[in-house]
Amino acid sequence: MMIRLIGLLCVWATLAPVVGAREPAADVPVIDSLEVSALPAGRHHFYFRAGWLSTGMPIHVPVVVLKGAEPGKRLLLTAAVHGDELNGIGVIHRLLEQLDAGALSGTLVAVPGVNQLGMAANNRRFPVSAGGGSYVDLNRNFPGTDEDTGPTAERFLGGLWQNLIKDNADMAVDIHTQTRGTAYPLFVFADFGNALSQQAAFLLGPDMIKNDPGQKGTLETSLMKAGIPAVTLEVGAPKVFQADLIARAVSGIKNLMRAHKMLDGEAVMPPMRPIVGSSYTNVYTETGGVAVLHVGLKDRVEKGQHVATLYDPFGQELKRYTAPHDGWVLAVATDPLREAGTMLVRILQ
Ligand SMILES: [Zn+2]
Repeated sequence: MMIRLIGLLCVWATLAPVVGAREPAADVPVIDSLEVSALPAGRHHFYFRAGWLSTGMPIHVPVVVLKGAEPGKRLLLTAAVHGDELNGIGVIHRLLEQLDAGALSGTLVAVPGVNQLGMAANNRRFPVSAGGGSYVDLNRNFPGTDEDTGPTAERFLGGLWQNLIKDNADMAVDIHTQTRGTAYPLFVFADFGNALSQQAAFLLGPDMIKNDPGQKGTLETSLMKAGIPAVTLEVGAPKVFQADLIARAVSGIKNLMRAHKMLDGEAVMPPMRPIVGSSYTNVYTETGGVAVLHVGLKDRVEKGQHVATLYDPFGQELKRYTAPHDGWVLAVATDPLREAGTMLVRILQ
């Protein structure tokens, strides 16, 4: 009995300090504004306090600043503005493993998980709303508000925008994925009205690019409006790490950094030219049902081509869906259970 007790005490003594040491917040400074020009060269970790919960707890967002030994441009990378779009977290983590401040000119400001609350709640949206209202799509509400009143989500965005983002970036890549039950290839939204955004879109080496002025309220359009060239990089599918696409995105971002002299070496235009379009059409279900797709990502399709079939619960054909115009398959449904009015395929032209 005594030996058992001593054994237990030994196990406790070994575990106790290790558990304590694993608390990541213990030695990470909490900030509510960032000025990268004031930091010394090297790698810095922060928790950015972007508001408060009704419980009285702060909302902390992790930030990594890699400040180069030499001066240069400031590149902002953001991931998981939508809380279930995780490949971008993998992109930032893998990229940071490969970079060294001593070999960097300029500064990388990385936010590997903007929507911390959505991530924890397995939700695309920001799962806090006053009065039991709907959860908030953060990427339709940038740049938030800088007022002392207003919903938590808007104040969260306002804090990030005012005190972290707008004064610490010369260019930006906001990393997303398609939404739940669907997938993209490696794909960039960019506004070719800005030459640097257009160039960035190609340097990232995607499969496909959509040239458009962007949607109101996105981080990309808010940055562009503030005079900071930006693109939205879509990396595959949500709730998964796709190692091949993550590796390509890392390589594309390093290529962009070389083009802007942040890293040594020549930037290259990737040999495979991406498919470029300026509009797309979604083929939507009219009723719910079980979908079988007959096309895959990046496939060329022609107007009238049979792209998907919807079945009823007994396996009987409900409807055949066809391409409304010529183009290329930009996104596909990966979840065969389709609600009425949801996307089967998205065709870029
Ligand atoms: Zn997204």
